[in-house]
Amino acid sequence: MSTETASMATPVPALNLAANFHELRDELLAEIQAVCESGYYVLGPKVAAFEEALAASCGARRAVALSSGTDALLLSLMALGVGPGDEVVVPSFTFFATAGVVARLGAKPVFCDVHPDTFNAGAEHFERFITKKTKVLIPVHLYGQMAEMKPIEELARRRGLAIVEDACQAIGAREPGENGRYAGAVGTFGALSFYPTKNLGALGDAGAVLTSDEQMYELARRLRIHGSGHTYYHEVVGGNFRIDALQAAILTIKLKRLPIWARQRAARARVYNELFVASGLTPEFVHLPSERNGHHVYHQYVIRADRRDGLFEHLKQRKIGAGIYYPLPLHLQKCFLHLGGRAGDLPSAERAAAEVLALPMYPELTDVQQAAVVQAVREFYRL
Ligand SMILES: *Cc1c(COP(=O)(O)O)cnc(C)c1O
Repeated sequence: MSTETASMATPVPALNLAANFHELRDELLAEIQAVCESGYYVLGPKVAAFEEALAASCGARRAVALSSGTDALLLSLMALGVGPGDEVVVPSFTFFATAGVVARLGAKPVFCDVHPDTFNAGAEHFERFITKKTKVLIPVHLYGQMAEMKPIEELARRRGLAIVEDACQAIGAREPGENGRYAGAVGTFGALSFYPTKNLGALGDAGAVLTSDEQMYELARRLRIHGSGHTYYHEVVGGNFRIDALQAAILTIKLKRLPIWARQRAARARVYNELFVASGLTPEFVHLPSERNGHHVYHQYVIRADRRDGLFEHLKQRKIGAGIYYPLPLHLQKCFLHLGGRAGDLPSAERAAAEVLALPMYPELTDVQQAAVVQAVREFYRL
């Protein structure tokens, strides 16, 4: 069989969530049955147990489990009192929710650029956009690698600002070095998402905030249930940000496997790196992901590619599930154009949007599938 037919004969889906379920099938089904029979479906003991395990595994004092990662970001900003007249600086190259929650509170999202190699914003990017109105900085740990937090913390201290980490793609990632802190455990709050495609995925929507500030922890718990401390007595205005007992029970089982899955993802990333280097595609056609800032958990394996859109189409025809996260930076999104963003404002974010391509990445990926992916990329560049 020629290498060309090998790649054509091997479809590689973007994800394989059912395989992930089957790995833990019996344990999950038993737990789902137990929750069904308990009659306790929202919050309660399963949620409390999950929160304890989650905080411990992420190096935070406390965790509050919630309805989604978006709600985790929203609740964090509500707890910090963000509202009309405030500005929050966020990277332009991220998922929409990072900025959407700022606008929903009547505050102004202010967009900054990112590093061209890690795709994360650093202190120098945030600093340019800090004004008297700035209240919060939101570093995003994109694709599973942490932003460089120490200079961002130093900047926030100097300017009297709070930090909310968007760690929705980076559960389990750490700073470099022996004592590197975990993603989400550095800022006043860290937001996590358990959307099914994330590294720790529920069987539906779910999320959490991490915090080591006891007062913020108490406030977050209240905001989750409409700002009420005692039932039907409301001290502040919150929302319904509750998580289902079913999701918490499922996540508690999966959380135990997360370190193994993270190692498998990193091993899969090394296989891609080796195949690409051997293919002769780097650095002319393809730039490999950077591991500059510590332990990367590879939520996504993202290359920069020459003629990216053509390559994306070619892979689609070969039944290889690549993805573009994200094709348009936030300062150029229609709903934010009134804030004055123009093409050319944030060159690294704009270039990233034009060049990034995420290749299939999950613990269950096989050597044969990865070889098929790289072979299909070679065909596109006729190497
Ligand atoms: C997934 C994600 C979110 C939102 O999480 P949901 O659980 O889908 O609401 C926010 N920010 C980033 C960077 C994400 O990847």
